[in-house]
Amino acid sequence: MNSKVETRDLKKYFQTPTGTLHAVDGVSLKIGERQTLGVVGESGCGKSTLGRLIIKLLGNTDGSLFFDGKDITNIDKKELRELRWKMQMIFQDPYSSVNPRMTVSQIIAEPLKIQNKLTGSEREERVEELMKTVGLDSRYRMTYPHELDGGRRQRISIARALALNPSFIVCDEPVSALDVSIQAQILNLLKDLQDQFGMTFLFISHNLAVVKYISHSIMVMYLGVSVEQCQTEELFGNPLHPYTRALLSAVPVADIHHQKKEIAIKGELTSPINPPPGCRFAPRCPCSSERCFQETPKQKEVKKGHLVACHLYE
Ligand code: SF4
Repeated sequence: MNSKVETRDLKKYFQTPTGTLHAVDGVSLKIGERQTLGVVGESGCGKSTLGRLIIKLLGNTDGSLFFDGKDITNIDKKELRELRWKMQMIFQDPYSSVNPRMTVSQIIAEPLKIQNKLTGSEREERVEELMKTVGLDSRYRMTYPHELDGGRRQRISIARALALNPSFIVCDEPVSALDVSIQAQILNLLKDLQDQFGMTFLFISHNLAVVKYISHSIMVMYLGVSVEQCQTEELFGNPLHPYTRALLSAVPVADIHHQKKEIAIKGELTSPINPPPGCRFAPRCPCSSERCFQETPKQKEVKKGHLVACHLYE
C-alpha cells in the first residue's frame, strides 16, 4: 500500500528556561492512503505537537517528513502554500477554532476566499454543498456559532476543513468536548467522508474506545516517543508494551463476567525536559530492569506490522 504520510525519526524540541523540552523525540510512522492512524496517549505525550508537525504548522527540529511520497521536510513557502490546500486540521474545541463574529456561511467560505479561485456565486454554491455534505441544514447559513450546539459547531469546522478538497486531515481530539451521543454522530460522519472522498486521517485522542472505533491502525505515544504501533485489532487483541497493557486494562468492559484487572500506573513521570537516558516509562513500569534505566529501547518489528519499543521483546 502507498504511504500518504510518512515520518522518519521526526523530532521537535523546545527551549525552556530550565532546559530542552523533548516534545516529539524521534517518531517514525506511515499512514496508508484512505487509512486512519489513531494516535493515543496521556495529555502532554506530544500527540498534538506531532499532528502540527505533520501538517507543517510547526517546523521540526530533526528528522524527515514525506507526503504523497515527496520529501516535504524543507519545502519553500510557495510549495507550502499549495500543500496547505491538501492538508487540513480539525481541532478539539470547535468554538475556539472558529471566528465567533462570522456567520456559518462566512466561516465555511473563508478558505475559499483566501484561495481565490471561485466567483462569489460559485462560493455560495460550494458552501451550500459543504453544509449538505456534513449534515448541516442550510437554514443555519446566517447563524453565528454561539447559537449552535457543540455537534453542529464541529460540523462547521469539518465543512471548513473540507472546503479545499484536502486528501489528508489531522483530527486533534475532535470529539472530546462533545456529549457521548454527539461523539458517535461526528465519528460516523468522519468515517462516511473517508469512504466518500478517500481521505486519509491522523486521529489524535486520549480515548482508546474512540480511537478503536475510527482507526485502521494505532500508535501509542508516551512522553514524545512511539512505544507501540500496529493494526487496531492486533493492538486490542495482543498488546505488548507494558504501557499499552496498562492503558487497555483501564478501558471499561461491558461484559460483567469478563472484567479485566486494571493495571495501575504508579511512580513518577519522567520529565520531558532533558530526559535521562533509558526507557521513558521505566520509573512507572512494573516490568523494568536495570537495563531499562540505562539504555533507550529502539522500536522494532516483533511480528509482521507490529512495532514495539521495549527491551522485553529483544
Ligand atoms: S523497556 Fe523496560 S521499562 Fe521500558 S517498557 Fe520495556 S520493560 Fe518497561
